[in-house]
This record gives sequence, C-alpha cells and structure tokens, in this order.
Amino acid sequence: MELAEQLKELKKKLVEILPQVSHVIGYEPGFDPLHVAPFFIREAAEVERLVWNRFCIHNLAAYLPPQKRPPGWLFNPEEKVGVLVKGCDSRSIVELLGEGILDREKLLIIGLPCTGKIDPRKLSSQIDIDKVARIEQDEQTIMVFTEQEEVSADLADLYYDKCLECDYPNPLVYDILIGELLKADAHRKPPFSQLNKLEAMSIPQREQFWGKAFSKCIRCYACRNVCPVCYCQNKCLVEARRPHWSKAEVTLSENRWFHMIRSFHVAGRCTDCGECSRVCPVNIPVHLLSMKINKELWELFGYLAGTDENRKPPLQTFQPEEEKIK
Ligand code: SF4
Ligand code: SF4
Ligand code: SF4
Repeated sequence: MELAEQLKELKKKLVEILPQVSHVIGYEPGFDPLHVAPFFIREAAEVERLVWNRFCIHNLAAYLPPQKRPPGWLFNPEEKVGVLVKGCDSRSIVELLGEGILDREKLLIIGLPCTGKIDPRKLSSQIDIDKVARIEQDEQTIMVFTEQEEVSADLADLYYDKCLECDYPNPLVYDILIGELLKADAHRKPPFSQLNKLEAMSIPQREQFWGKAFSKCIRCYACRNVCPVCYCQNKCLVEARRPHWSKAEVTLSENRWFHMIRSFHVAGRCTDCGECSRVCPVNIPVHLLSMKINKELWELFGYLAGTDENRKPPLQTFQPEEEKIK
C-alpha cells in the first residue's frame, strides 16, 4: 500500500479511535518540506493536520515512559494513549513492556509497515538543505527545490543507514495495522553493517575517532532525552550532585565518561532506533557505541533487545556466581 493510501486509512481510523484515548501521538508538517514534527492529536478536527510520509523518522515511543513525563504533562500514566509505530519503533515498545515500564492496557498501538525513511542530511552535498522551498516525489525519486536551484535524487541513495539494514519493517506489536505486512526479507544489507568502518579500525585509530567525536560534544543531552530506554531522567547520574559522579564540564575526559556511562546503561536494552545519533547537533554517531554492544550480545547470547517481550537483557540477569564459570 502506498504512503498516501496508508495516510488516508490512518486518518479514518484515528477519527474512530480518538474517543477511546487521551491523545494519539503522530506526525505533523515540520519547519520545511524535508521535516515533520511529533504531533499530539486530541480532537477529530486536528486529524487533518496529520502526515505520514518518507520523513516520519521520529521514534514516538520515546514519549511513553511515565518517568519521562513531568506531572501535569499532556497525558498522565492513568490515561490511555494512542501511538503510531513503525517496525523499528515497535521494538522500543516491546523492550519497555518487557522491562515493566509500560502498561499494555494503557496503550493503543497503531502499526505502520514501513519501506524506509529519507535522511535529509544525505541531500546536503547536492543542495542547500536549509533553503528548501518545495519537493516533489514519486516511488523512486525526489525533486528538491530552493529559490535558486533544484536537484533530483534516487530515494534509494537517501534512506537512513538503519533502513538499509532493516530487519523489522513490520511492527512487532500493534492493536491496529494500517497497510499490509511487508516481506520479512526487506533488509538490503546485513545487520550491524553500520559498524564495518569502526571495526576495521585499529584500537589507536578507534581511540582517535572517539576522542575527536567526543571533544565536540556540548553535553546538551539530546541523545539521552530522545532515547526511549534512557528513562531515569530525573535521577540521571550525570546531573546528580549527591553523589557527584560526573562533572558538567565540557571536557574530553568528562564527555567520554558521560558516553561510557550512557552506553553501558542502555547495554542490551538499546533497540537500535538510531535516534541518539540523528538528533545530535554536532553529528556524533553516538548510536554506534550501543550498536557495538548489541552486536556482541547478539553473537554471545542470540539476544536482540525489543524483539521478545519475555526475554530479559543478559546484563540484567547476570548472577554473581557466573563469575566462577570459566
Ligand atoms: S528501520 Fe525499518 S521500520 Fe524503521 S524507518 Fe527504516 S525501514 Fe522503517
Ligand atoms: S541508545 Fe540510541 S539507538 Fe539505542 S534505543 Fe536509545 S536512542 Fe535508540
Ligand atoms: S546529542 Fe550530541 S552533543 Fe548532545 S550530549 Fe549527545 S553526543 Fe553530546
């Protein structure tokens, strides 16, 4: 089913289900034609603003953990909420359900089989993406226009890296499905291909790579805030003062410390949504750290976060006696 048809069906369905929920979290047009923004829909009259297109990349599951919502925020944990999920986003929900963070009864999950999303940054070598006025697209190509120039590109060259190795185009959990399920062999590259460049580096090269990357970090914490499984926000140890684990200083050593702590806190829980890298204002590929740990856990234990609600991450089931096993 094409995106336009999916959108039409989605809008119709939302009008029907809105009376059952406090909000539905979806997408609305963003600040330019290459971007959309998360959208909290409460009334049928707002449904017309909804969009579902090749730019709907945000993992909306990040809004669900009650720990990430201040009291009195848009909806509270007692209210049932609807949420749109792509296949990759649904892994976050499965993980959060498995961790006991979400109440399934309070969720109405609207699943959208997904054929891939476009990374606007991949257009930046061809056109000034800050000045885009208009786009036109079909199933294979996109035309992008600014006031001065225009460019045509193949969609296949613009997909997010994660879409090029997507093994979960279909939602793993849903109440309502919009569109037909896609074939499971949709991935075009082997899993974890994004790590190839990093793994080809020697240890000193890796040290240099991450040193350069982390020296740019401005500690804005966008990577943490957008992460669906990074939910101990109000008690996050990088901001705790008693005990004072980490300084707020923006220095390489403190930045390294922050990223080491964060990657181990999401170890085996990271669902590879890639949002932490996407939102980084200084383009640090921070997701590669947790992806590397995910790969090790996959090879050691056959475990992939967010794919089985009944399995616990290996690092959560560790027993001290295991130290003795050689
Ligand atoms: S990773 Fe898969 S489900 Fe997620 S946006 Fe890409 S193609 Fe869609
Ligand atoms: S660590 Fe990054 S890739 Fe993993 S779940 Fe969090 S935001 Fe997504
Ligand atoms: S989003 Fe980027 S700059 Fe901000 S804290 Fe994370 S890595 Fe640092």
